[in-house]
Amino acid sequence: MDTNEEIIQDQDVSASQNQPGARKRALALVNIDLCTGCAICANVCPVNCVTIVPSELNFKGVATVNERCTGCNICAIDCPWFAIIMVNADGTKKDPAEYAKQLQRLRGYR
Ligand code: SF4
Ligand code: SF4
Repeated sequence: MDTNEEIIQDQDVSASQNQPGARKRALALVNIDLCTGCAICANVCPVNCVTIVPSELNFKGVATVNERCTGCNICAIDCPWFAIIMVNADGTKKDPAEYAKQLQRLRGYR
């Protein structure tokens, strides 16, 4: 199982896409194996939809994103551990290489 599949398992967006009034925007997904619980994402999220929850993976806990996420990308840009990916409304992911380039540009590396 690759990392992205593990991420999807953690926050099952595909199920929510099939509900009436399913979201049209992208959703932030946290790779809990990379998350350090630093809470930067929770602090920068403009709609306060990120919570740090207890986890056996590290003593600070891990981030989890709820359905209020607007898909703004800010948390993915600011996560120092690249632990957040954005998933499109249909459940598909951006091409990892293209997304990495976009993040680098947004971070000012390019
Ligand atoms: S910024 Fe990244 S590492 Fe820090 S809590 Fe959020 S997802 Fe985890
Ligand atoms: S994509 Fe934007 S709205 Fe969604 S969790 Fe990240 S910062 Fe919050």
